[in-house]
Amino acid sequence: MAQLYRAELLKSKPIIDFVVGPDNYRQIPQILAQDKKEKIVSTTWSSDWNKPSESHVIHKSRHSAFVTIMEGCNNFCSYCIVPFTRGREKFRPKTLILDEIKALSDLNYKEIILLGQNVNSYKDPDNHFGFVELLYEINRISGFEWLRFITSHPRNFTEETAFAMKENKKICHSLHLPVQTGSTATLIRMKRRYTREEYMEKVMILRNLMPDISLSTDIIVGYPGETDEEYQETLNLLKEVHYTNIFSFRYSPRPRTSSALEEDSVALDVKKKRLIDLQALQKDIQLEINRSFIGKTVKTLCLGHSKKDSTGYTGRNEGYQVVNFVSDKNVIGQFVIVKITGCGSYSLHGHSLT
Ligand code: SF4
Repeated sequence: MAQLYRAELLKSKPIIDFVVGPDNYRQIPQILAQDKKEKIVSTTWSSDWNKPSESHVIHKSRHSAFVTIMEGCNNFCSYCIVPFTRGREKFRPKTLILDEIKALSDLNYKEIILLGQNVNSYKDPDNHFGFVELLYEINRISGFEWLRFITSHPRNFTEETAFAMKENKKICHSLHLPVQTGSTATLIRMKRRYTREEYMEKVMILRNLMPDISLSTDIIVGYPGETDEEYQETLNLLKEVHYTNIFSFRYSPRPRTSSALEEDSVALDVKKKRLIDLQALQKDIQLEINRSFIGKTVKTLCLGHSKKDSTGYTGRNEGYQVVNFVSDKNVIGQFVIVKITGCGSYSLHGHSLT
């Protein structure tokens, strides 16, 4: 937003002192040291974003960290603002990524999550070493135990990546694979460049290699021209894939995108109803999946105290499901085996056996 609206923001919202784009946020200390009366816009694209001195680690907790491997996107899906706000794809050198993960591992981090708008297109800028090779190298780093990556574009997600997930012990059997819609006709209008059938083929490959894999996705309802039948195909896709989690949204046009030039033809009340119905369906699917865990044990990384019960603990299992549990000792930052005794649609409940 900062990149796109810069001057308008300063003009329309006098409370804002300065605007900083995604490539410039490391300038904030210098900007703060300047005369605050001067309105500052700092939104230039930077080509030296991957300098060794600049850390690209986001600490989710003291036990789990996000490490950026790439930024930007070249795909230009019809509805998406990312290529205009984050720019085109750019990649961090492999050596920097590996050093950063080694350092996190030495600090006793247990989980590393690789970040990028389209991680599957990763190429080392120095030698074109690709994403799969990067996964194998990271897997060889000792110390940390779980490796995840987001986000994968279904078109760029390869069979080799699925094999790497199966073969490399640290890579969690959990994948976010955004489909957006279950209708090929809508996918074409969205410029996603894959069909429902091609997407389902990748799901089958993943499920054949890793029957326990947990999948999540993004869904947009009410895209321009989405018919009842096309929407129904999305509902059918949810029933077919059985996602562990979804992130779902009503379509709304974004400036500069190609879909913003089309008529936003699905009425707001129709979009709202489609979203409510879709989320209700997904809630039932999640409950069914979660119930299948009752009586089983799951390895869980404890990330802190439970929000609802400060004497309880919360964490995530390998499938990235929330696990709330009781334990007679403080296990924050540790892997624990949890016996699942109950669940809701959004979390599993149980007690620690370790
Ligand atoms: S939706 Fe994802 S793949 Fe498409 S343009 Fe946006 S960031 Fe890129």
